Amino acid sequence: MQDKKYLMIPGPTPVPPSVVTAMSMPLIGHRSDDFAQLHERVVGKLQKVFQTKNDIFILTNSGTGALETAIANTVNPGDKVLSLVTGNFGERFANIAKAYGAQVDEVEFGWGNCVDLKVVAEKLAADPEIKVVLATQNETSTGVVNDIAGIAALVEKTPALLLVDGVSGIGAIEHKTDEWHVDILCTASQKALMLPPGLSMITVSDKAWKVINENKSPRFYFSLLACKKQYEKWNTAYTPGVSLFLGLEASLDMMLSEGMDNVYDRHALLAKAVRAAARALGLKLLAEDHCASNALTAIYSPEGIGADDIRKILKKQYGITFAGGQGKLKGKIFRIAHMGFADKMDVMIAISALEMALVQVGFSVELGSGVRAAQEVFLGKVE
Ligand SMILES: *Cc1c(COP(=O)(O)O)cnc(C)c1O
Repeated sequence: MQDKKYLMIPGPTPVPPSVVTAMSMPLIGHRSDDFAQLHERVVGKLQKVFQTKNDIFILTNSGTGALETAIANTVNPGDKVLSLVTGNFGERFANIAKAYGAQVDEVEFGWGNCVDLKVVAEKLAADPEIKVVLATQNETSTGVVNDIAGIAALVEKTPALLLVDGVSGIGAIEHKTDEWHVDILCTASQKALMLPPGLSMITVSDKAWKVINENKSPRFYFSLLACKKQYEKWNTAYTPGVSLFLGLEASLDMMLSEGMDNVYDRHALLAKAVRAAARALGLKLLAEDHCASNALTAIYSPEGIGADDIRKILKKQYGITFAGGQGKLKGKIFRIAHMGFADKMDVMIAISALEMALVQVGFSVELGSGVRAAQEVFLGKVE
């Protein structure tokens, strides 16, 4: 067997050749005019993708660094924080707020479910002291997408800020930052933005700046005030991942030339095909259609068969990596990412290998039935 690999996990995701090429360009000094121009161009392009006129800070750290930056700059010790949890990453966001001394009301909607807006409305009405609301756009641990527009419409009417973890959704699922009034949006390089790990991005609204300027939490590397000072000159506070900035411009150019509507439609089509294939194979999906993510799909392993046994076969015999379950879903589900540099034939590879692996673990499937279901979606033969 050759060493050909198919990485189908929700980050890091495959990096397109044009991005790899851009990242291999000679380094430039980060205090140079060249870097300032690159920085300005990249922020302009990110503003299009994020649909915002707000400042966007590009931080050199993983996505969790952006989440911590969001909390460290807006949450004071003792502040009341409402945390909307639909899985592992929602829990992490809440845990960061706890680490900064917040009084966190963690509302669990159940793994596989999305946020119920009625509950959010009730919570906000019951406690006018809530300072910050935490939400996850795309819950990567369950393959659930939350209604950020709906959540934002509720938070906007209160003094609270809305902080959104969009790490695995931005670039795959549309997010109208300004139109919806999202105060802080966090994302990262290694998911739908098609870059290696190492950069995160954070947007800041005017409503959020007022809070940030008064904030008392200790912070240094993660201080947005330090970022802002340098940003005025298209500089960064500390040494940025220069090569990743070069790659980011290339990936943004790719997305913008495809057209963001087309990018989102492509993700929706891939998700639809994967879901149709899973159903045709007699597999159960974790998320219901109305809150299923377009960026990745979580699928239950058949009764009595460990999800990780299927994943092992896929990895060893077909070079394909699916993600496993996290937390309470470990061993019970596998997750197929179809975000970023992903298209129809990636789905065909994933599904055809999955069929073989299912047969190998002793689950009876009709070979080709999943592939056919996906093909029918691609050929427009299903509604
Ligand atoms: C990947 C991910 C993160 C951040 O993870 P890092 O490993 O710190 O980049 C945060 N939230 C969600 C929803 C994610 O998918």
